[in-house]
Amino acid sequence: MSFEDDYQLTSKFSEHTHDFLSSHLIAPTPVNYSVIYLYISNENEMLSAAIDKKLKKGESITADFMADLFKRYVSFTQQVENTVLAPFEETLTKTLEQISKQVTNEDKAAVNLQKLDKILAKSKGNTSIDNIVSYLFNTINTTKAQHETLSQKLTTTQQEINQLKDKLASSRQEALVDSLTGLLNRRGCDEKLQNLNHNDTHTSLAIDIDHFKKVNDTFGHFIGDKVIQRIAKTIESHIGEQDIAVRFGGEEFVVVMAHTPIAEAKNIAEKIRISISNMKLKQRDTNTYLPPISVSIGIAQNDNISEWTSLFEQADNALYQAKNSGRNRCICA
Ligand code: GH3
Ligand code: MG
Ligand code: MG
Repeated sequence: MSFEDDYQLTSKFSEHTHDFLSSHLIAPTPVNYSVIYLYISNENEMLSAAIDKKLKKGESITADFMADLFKRYVSFTQQVENTVLAPFEETLTKTLEQISKQVTNEDKAAVNLQKLDKILAKSKGNTSIDNIVSYLFNTINTTKAQHETLSQKLTTTQQEINQLKDKLASSRQEALVDSLTGLLNRRGCDEKLQNLNHNDTHTSLAIDIDHFKKVNDTFGHFIGDKVIQRIAKTIESHIGEQDIAVRFGGEEFVVVMAHTPIAEAKNIAEKIRISISNMKLKQRDTNTYLPPISVSIGIAQNDNISEWTSLFEQADNALYQAKNSGRNRCICA
């Protein structure tokens, strides 16, 4: 599709969105606008189905309903920023620029009229011309005031858009991060992997805590969670900025060491393993130390592997071997 077609289509959706909002008496806030825009452009099946169901039942569309749809289907998708907010903002900026130009012209016209008024006063002229000048002067001032009010309202809308962008960024962030450890979750992992070229050399580690059931059974789930958090911190402290650390499941972690051959990755994996086995974990209430904790690590490099899942599978197989050959060790695929 050409840029022109794209523009035409976006304008059409935008127009229909405005029509829908006004015919259903929905306030044109950025949240409502983005939900209805996605409905009109039919970009999200679930969102469209929810609105269709509501309309079919003849129920009215409330602010709460819209906020819920926004939270559920819109907030963590990138598309709302690219397809909805960006064109909306562009129009807004253009309108603000136009208004500002108009206000400048009106200022100039008012100054000229004032000059004319002075000249007329000196020449003790004609009252009807005086009247026309003061009429024009008043009209221009009124329009200028209206334009300034409109400009203020649009500036508020711009601020709302900025707030919405911040909200989107933070809910997207929340959707990608594991809340217990602050590491990425699987969705976050998928997103980060898109920035890595699969043809470069990368190595993956599959890390699983040894006999973790026993930790939970002996010390309880709360302490178990603390152990997971400490292990996550230890993993994070050994890897670089470009590397990807993920809480892959309950007590399983995946690390992708970007642009790192397996020999180098194995050194780092060993450091992680040793560091975890040396961790001293003190229980605050009883002031006693937990028995040493260890992890097993499987390591694989992405030679001739075109899918990330296959790389993870290879690392997982190596992890399985590490478990079977006694745990607390690193094994390369
Ligand atoms: P292995 O050495 O073979 O890995 O033994 P394991 O006991 O660690 O066995 P496995 O990995 O299968 O056990 C996972 C256990 O981890 C089961 C579950 O109770 C516990 N677990 C999973 N997720 C969490 C979590 O979020 N918090 C806590 N506290 N425990 C969890
Ligand atoms: Mg496990
Ligand atoms: Mg385990």
